[in-house]
Amino acid sequence: METSAARTAPAVIVAIDGPSGTGKSSTSKAVAAQLGLSYLDTGAQYRAITWWMVNNGIDVSDPTAIAAVAAKPEIVSGTDPSAPIITVDGTDVSGPIRTQEVTSKVSAVSAVPEVRARITELQRSVAAAAEGGIVVEGRDIGTTVLPDADVKIFLTASPEARAARRSGELKGADLHTTREALLKRDAADSTRKTSPLAKADDAVEVDTSDLTLQQVIECVVTLVEEKRAAK
Ligand code: C5P
Repeated sequence: METSAARTAPAVIVAIDGPSGTGKSSTSKAVAAQLGLSYLDTGAQYRAITWWMVNNGIDVSDPTAIAAVAAKPEIVSGTDPSAPIITVDGTDVSGPIRTQEVTSKVSAVSAVPEVRARITELQRSVAAAAEGGIVVEGRDIGTTVLPDADVKIFLTASPEARAARRSGELKGADLHTTREALLKRDAADSTRKTSPLAKADDAVEVDTSDLTLQQVIECVVTLVEEKRAAK
């Protein structure tokens, strides 16, 4: 819940990056809600543009075809951490962007430079409009999108911990299949040419393998509060 202290505190920009299954989304939403900050899920934006490509019959293995239409869909992200909806051309796609099909295709779409340029611009304008401050979660926020963020966190966890969390979210999906799919997506995200998943030199790395969600949230909240106090 937003407190009056949170409302009057200096605006902070918090970048939370890391691979899938490290607790990025749960942590980012909870930190934003607790500190009265806005919240932006940048993975949802890449998923939304991927959903549009699939829906419009674009061949996602063809970067030229993707680049040619990258500017077409209108993507609007909500920034309320308790209800982070996302729309494409006015349609709420918060549910459809989480399908297996979108998940398996998003890395190919997000690797296309024209897609990244478009989505990065969108992310910067959302962050600039968040007067009270914002938590932005993704893969390249601390390195590329908001290199001047006040607080940069890089979440990691062992492949086993990440696969276990993800298969729990997918209601008991097979652990081995989930692990392989997750590692494949992270490898693609980390090795692409444009703005790969990477830890910024000045980011604080937090290994969440043996921490509860509550412990990770407390760790990030403390880092943000320290930064706010020093502002
Ligand atoms: O975080 P999430 O799993 O929803 O992200 C989906 C995909 O979006 C990632 O696998 C990655 O390909 C892409 N992404 C990205 N840069 C970001 C956030 C997500 O390339 N900042």
